Amino acid sequence: MTGKSAARGAPLFKVRRSRVHGRGAFAERRIRKGTRIIEYLGERVSHQEADRRYEDRGARDSHTFLFIVDARTVIDAGAGGNDARFINHSCKPNCETVMEGKRVFIEATRTIQPGEELNYDYQLGRAADDPPDVDEIYACRCGQANCRGTMLWPPKKAPRRTAARPYTARRAERAPSAKSAKNAKRGTPRKRKQAALR
Ligand SMILES: [Zn+2]
Repeated sequence: MTGKSAARGAPLFKVRRSRVHGRGAFAERRIRKGTRIIEYLGERVSHQEADRRYEDRGARDSHTFLFIVDARTVIDAGAGGNDARFINHSCKPNCETVMEGKRVFIEATRTIQPGEELNYDYQLGRAADDPPDVDEIYACRCGQANCRGTMLWPPKKAPRRTAARPYTARRAERAPSAKSAKNAKRGTPRKRKQAALR
């Protein structure tokens, strides 16, 4: 499999086994900073439909092929997706996602040498109904010196305090999962719902 540049049809990257996670995307040639590498494609569905599709997967399956367009729409790269779905997370990435209208593109943030693995920071959002071991489920093994150990952002949830907190703050923490989709961070991949907790 190869990722083709829209402009010239020459492969910018190739998908193969990655040491970081499953398969990954590796530069086939030098990619200049700012290059638009590939569009993140797949079927556009609602957050609810995405939940329905993947709730039966093992709760510990962290393969993520969902990408948040906005509070209404998710791109499901598991259906009609392209090789963009194989680009792994890194805490020190060489790419970023760029939203243009409701389309998502992956662009190089620095010059990438042939053979380098392409990656971007997933910054997976946290939700009120995440399981306690969510950081282990989405553990990062990028191996960078600044690795924060998780694909989630912010890095670690502050421990819940029960004393001396305003009532409204406590309520917000227990927001039902339907609200999570509304708070979903635009332009980032999305975790699957953890079926075991539903
Ligand atoms: Zn990392």
